[in-house]
Amino acid sequence: MSSPRIEVDLSKIRHNTWTIVVRLKALGIGVTGVTKAVCGHPAIARTMLDGGTQGLAEARLSNVQRLRKAGITCPVTLIRTPMLSQADDVVQVCEASYNTEMTIIMALAAAAIRQNKVHGIILMVEMGDRREGIMPQDLGEITQQVINMPGVALKGIGTNLACLSGIAPDAEKMQTLSTIVNEVEGKCGIFLETVSGGNSANLPWALGGYPNGRINNLRLGEAILLGVDPLSGNKIGGMFSDAFTLVAEVIEADAKSASPSVSFPDPSLAGLRIVPKSGEITRLILAIGHQDTDVRELSMPPGNTFIGATSDHLVVGTKHATFCVGSEMRFQMNYGALMRAMAAPDIQINLRHNWSALCAHDAHSPSKHLAQF
Ligand SMILES: *Cc1c(COP(=O)(O)O)cnc(C)c1O
Repeated sequence: MSSPRIEVDLSKIRHNTWTIVVRLKALGIGVTGVTKAVCGHPAIARTMLDGGTQGLAEARLSNVQRLRKAGITCPVTLIRTPMLSQADDVVQVCEASYNTEMTIIMALAAAAIRQNKVHGIILMVEMGDRREGIMPQDLGEITQQVINMPGVALKGIGTNLACLSGIAPDAEKMQTLSTIVNEVEGKCGIFLETVSGGNSANLPWALGGYPNGRINNLRLGEAILLGVDPLSGNKIGGMFSDAFTLVAEVIEADAKSASPSVSFPDPSLAGLRIVPKSGEITRLILAIGHQDTDVRELSMPPGNTFIGATSDHLVVGTKHATFCVGSEMRFQMNYGALMRAMAAPDIQINLRHNWSALCAHDAHSPSKHLAQF
């Protein structure tokens, strides 16, 4: 099997999707599956749909085009504000998009009219993350303009927290969003179908027993793919955090560990290359580097330590004498490592189903060994 590669266990992703969809459904919240971290990988997208998501969401048009090329016909929403230069293509492949700029909405409307379509608009409201969003005081006027504009249909309001500033989407924020929605509806005399409260970071709130008010949708990527809450890094009860495994190959295994006497022109480099003292540690070089993933965010298997990395090399100290040239080492990835690795041209993606492991997992009550919120 070729390496480096990512082994993707689709059954675990399906299990994660289904688990969170069922829990949120009981609360009146639908899930949109976010595929951006896997670059719109069609099989993973299909697995999310299989697991019960109401459509998909993507940040990049190229990924949506990949989904469409693979024959996926479900509604796809663009969650990053469309580029003005891409308005025509956005209307062509996405049913709806999240928007914050009148200029872009007007371009989408014009494109929709040309294509004899109606493009759905969800307005993003700023609630403290200071990334995308319309300031709440401007929302009424923009809403009114969108309602009056041919070519587009206002589908809802959304917000996004915890991305740029790490502000948690807590009960208070979510209640404020509900209030904003009610006010806009009253002011404009409309009913908003979708109120999208946020991303995976909203799960502690959603599952925490707070009233969900008007929020009836969440856009989930990380929680489904990695089974973790992005803000705390905690595992979500009953979900798998090892659906993805990165496998890299050893290209050098030697004993230079014990010879830090080599002199380095740059002292900061020397620090990276000296193995922590212990005679038994062997240095391994693996054929993967910064160009492939966020190597610092790989979790080292037990008995191995990260020593350093360059664009194409990862140096690991190992206590296991069994590693030799040609051996493979397996890593779990966090979100940053995953999204880069999935986009790396040199990493092969290997899909598998492992239903038997799933049954064992269910039989042994997953909540026992996975932390709950
Ligand atoms: C990335 C993103 C999401 C999904 O975030 P996860 O943490 O992967 O669940 C949702 N909404 C917007 C606007 C995003 O940019």
